[in-house]
Amino acid sequence: MIPFDLEFYVPENIEEASGLFAKLADEGKEPLYYAGGTEIITFTRQQIIKPDSLIDLKKIPETTTLKLEGEKLTIGSNITLTTLQGQEYFPLLALTAGVIADRTVRNRLTLGGNICGKLPYREAILALLIADTKTVLAGTEGMRTVPLSELFEKRLKLKKGEFLVQLIVPGDQLKNKSWAKRREKHGRVDYPLCHTAVMQKKGLISAAVSGLCAFPFHSSQIDEVLNDTSLAPEKRAEKASELLPAAVRSDELGSADYRLELWKKDLVTMLSELEGAG
Ligand SMILES: Cc1cc2nc3c(=O)[nH]c(=O)nc-3n(C[C@H](O)[C@H](O)[C@H](O)COP(=O)(O)OP(=O)(O)OC[C@H]3O[C@@H](n4cnc5c(N)ncnc54)[C@H](O)[C@@H]3O)c2cc1C
Repeated sequence: MIPFDLEFYVPENIEEASGLFAKLADEGKEPLYYAGGTEIITFTRQQIIKPDSLIDLKKIPETTTLKLEGEKLTIGSNITLTTLQGQEYFPLLALTAGVIADRTVRNRLTLGGNICGKLPYREAILALLIADTKTVLAGTEGMRTVPLSELFEKRLKLKKGEFLVQLIVPGDQLKNKSWAKRREKHGRVDYPLCHTAVMQKKGLISAAVSGLCAFPFHSSQIDEVLNDTSLAPEKRAEKASELLPAAVRSDELGSADYRLELWKKDLVTMLSELEGAG
């Protein structure tokens, strides 16, 4: 329950949704796009946010699509994490989205909400960050398609009034050899200490990480070090740890030193397993 009155809109197409946002903003209101609603409801209860209108995106057909067609996988932003976990098109995405929260929560959490929300982990983005994914966005100026690698820098850089419609993954990325490891303090439903997702493309490793720093990231500099087979896995892990884009998180779940040691250990395991497998 949201503890105050607000307007709730359920547009049935993209133009209606973006038009509504623009109209409400012009009227001086504070509209917010609404997907699974879990974060919005929690934050309104805690009085962290106080939107006066919500625009539910779930009736827009493009946001609920999940299909492999031709050479690409199209994933609507309102696809739930449970559906992502169950799909077989993109196994690394199933693996990395399927370990977020518990099943009851995953039934409501959407991919768009996970990526666009305020919580810093955004683990569902990991597999997408290393899969040459494109984003389809809609806003008052119309629609645009932008590579995820350009749009995501600590968070999705959406323009005011813009929303995420779809993510498009090239078909040749879907069945690449992959690896993932999530570390938690207490158990599965914890936030991650570090969560690493890796894809091997034409023999080259590409890694994305959540939980380690204040935001998820993929770094081509780190990839380069990880692919330097002239160095032992331990040395590569050490060098990778010197290239992190921000300070390592330290909180009640784990100190920075502890997180970093776990991550380096995971990198060594990953390198041994992927390279050992040939
Ligand atoms: C119990 C619990 C445990 C969790 N554990 C984890 C975890 O371990 N790891 C992790 O990564 N996350 C975790 N989360 C975070 C969760 O993924 C986010 O809070 C996410 O925002 C919730 O998705 P939603 O669909 O309910 O979003 P909503 O509450 O509907 O929206 C959240 C925000 O995203 C915006 N938004 C939603 N969809 C779009 C869109 N298509 N385009 C633009 N903006 C949009 C909304 O405007 C709002 O600002 C957890 C959440 C809960 C409730």
